[in-house]
Amino acid sequence: MNYRSTRHRVSPAPFSAAMLGGLAPDGGLYVPERFARFERGSIGDEPDFAKIAGLVLRPYLDGDALAGELDEICRTAFDFPVPLEPLRDETAVLELYQGPTSAFKDFGARFLAECTTRRLQAGSPPPPLTVLVATSGDTGGAVAAAFHRRAGIRVAILYPRGGVSERQEQQLACWGDNVLTLAVRGTFDDCQRVVKSAFRDGRLATRHRLTSANSINIGRLLPQMAYYAAGSEGYLARTGHEAGFIVPTGNVGNVAAAFWARASGFPIREIVLATNANRVIPDWYDRSEWRPRRSVATLANAMDVGDPSNMERLFDLFPHGEGLRQISRAGSVDDDTIRRVIAAGPVSWGRVWCPHTATAVHLRETIGTPHWVVVATAHPAKFDTIVEPLIGRSVEPPPRLAELLERPRQVTEIEAELDALDRALS
Ligand SMILES: *Cc1c(COP(=O)(O)O)cnc(C)c1O
Repeated sequence: MNYRSTRHRVSPAPFSAAMLGGLAPDGGLYVPERFARFERGSIGDEPDFAKIAGLVLRPYLDGDALAGELDEICRTAFDFPVPLEPLRDETAVLELYQGPTSAFKDFGARFLAECTTRRLQAGSPPPPLTVLVATSGDTGGAVAAAFHRRAGIRVAILYPRGGVSERQEQQLACWGDNVLTLAVRGTFDDCQRVVKSAFRDGRLATRHRLTSANSINIGRLLPQMAYYAAGSEGYLARTGHEAGFIVPTGNVGNVAAAFWARASGFPIREIVLATNANRVIPDWYDRSEWRPRRSVATLANAMDVGDPSNMERLFDLFPHGEGLRQISRAGSVDDDTIRRVIAAGPVSWGRVWCPHTATAVHLRETIGTPHWVVVATAHPAKFDTIVEPLIGRSVEPPPRLAELLERPRQVTEIEAELDALDRALS
């Protein structure tokens, strides 16, 4: 299996090369050249998620240098459960937050870290490779956790000082060792600007051996197909019905994997994209016009995206847009509604929702038809300052998160300048 660019101007590459390259050389995003076909029921109610991931990804790594290590990679990366829990009203929740940093970003980051490390060990002299990421929240923590203490690799995270929640900052700053946490005096856009100019500066990029781990990387996107395979097959095996999936969406990485899983034959009836007040996607469904804009800040901050990069992959899969509209729809949910859904959660669903998951739950509440899986992208304890006042009690952090919250912080403050980043890396 090879991966081609959405812009068709470069030759296809095997998985490892596409992963290490990040963006395709023509500026496009890598997509599978074709989709594998799985039979309905080929996974069933298999409880072992690492095993499911190995099965789903096998054809996608076929012929790649890492193919022989795939089962071991999955076993190491996915060492946590992925429960599909029944709720009322023919609805289930797929919990994607049981990894070490309590958000679904752990799936992609841990798979990418396993794959990158193994490719490096296949022969690469020092200096270490530097994984450079700008983050506005959950990505930086997941990437730091996944690459922490890996030989031959270091991570540099840039985040806006004062621009992330207390617990998010703790998850960015609690590492030390090979993780360099940089609090930038500026906004998230400043962080992204500095990171982009570092990659564009050929000399600097070579000297520090920079590589990226952002959500356009095929190595992060591909493994996310596995939980849609597990969730859809599990729902069918238990209920005899195909489920639709409602996915909290920002940069369209998570939901793109749902479309790819459906294209691979897994029993996903339809897909709903839930966004916060950033409504570029719902507006496209309403008016057929793709109009990116500046993002606005919301309670679901990991979804504050005004120009979602992975939309290019959906438009590649459905070149005329019509096919996309036939199997999916989208809805925008504002902050007041998010608050209401979280406050009502314990009574109406017996659940505490994070602000991102709350967008999907709200759309479920407004749809009359049965058989839906709500995708839960983060644990509510990650957003304690929003959630706890709304439900009037505290939310216990899961053990792996609690452990991170205990660690000391190690942060270096820098100006939002390329020179400052260069000095920090040297
Ligand atoms: C990143 C993130 C999202 C959005 O996912 P995309 O792949 O960017 O669409 C939703 N919820 C949480 C908790 C996240 O961290």
